[in-house]
Amino acid sequence: MKKLIAGNWKMNGSLVANEALVSAMLSGMGSEEPVADLALCVPAPYLAQLQHLLKGAKLALGAQDVSAHEQGAYTGEVSAAMLQDFGCRYAIVGHSERRQYHGETDALVATKAQRALAAGITPIVCVGETLAEREEGHTEEVVKRQLAAVIHTVAHCTSEIVVAYEPVWAIGTGKTASPEQAQHVHSVLRTQLAAATEHPERVRILYGGSMNASNAASLLSQPDIDGGLIGGASLKAPDFLSIAAAAR
Ligand code: PGA
Repeated sequence: MKKLIAGNWKMNGSLVANEALVSAMLSGMGSEEPVADLALCVPAPYLAQLQHLLKGAKLALGAQDVSAHEQGAYTGEVSAAMLQDFGCRYAIVGHSERRQYHGETDALVATKAQRALAAGITPIVCVGETLAEREEGHTEEVVKRQLAAVIHTVAHCTSEIVVAYEPVWAIGTGKTASPEQAQHVHSVLRTQLAAATEHPERVRILYGGSMNASNAASLLSQPDIDGGLIGGASLKAPDFLSIAAAAR
């Protein structure tokens, strides 16, 4: 399976800036088939703009969150059906910034993953330990607990998800997990997936957390690292494209 490189723009962008960034990405990509599957997860208000800009491009559209509810009186929420309306192929769920600042629980994240799948959208399920959890030796236990909640809820659809291992201490800090540290956690997640689905080979496990043009190749060459979820470096076309090129 091809690797997946997904940009997570977080709460960045404007109509003008997005157009410039996407056009730089598309011209940098040229007409050749990209070596990896590529996606951009953008703020909800820009989905329509990006759907238009990415028409015919080998760059899929994704959202950064999805509601756990189907529809109705949930002010401020965006449903999976709405994301589907704008051609979203992916939706990030359970990003640590949502777990941390919006109190999202493992159970809520699992329901979000289920809503995305029901609408034909691939959830990118984020898991990862905080620095304190790592220092106390709880890394494996934390990521396994976070993934188990999703596996339990989506059950036979487990092979349809993407997992992103994002150590919280590496996000936006410039501190990257070493390729060995990341590979170790990825192998733990792979084993967990293998016990939960007949097709664990279909599940891509991305690494996220300060991945950039200089460290991408060494991370992406690890046997269980199937791509990247890229924050800061996805806001610069040359950086995002170098990471994409390293995903052979
Ligand atoms: P970063 O963010 O690449 O800026 O560390 C990754 C993420 O939070 O998805």
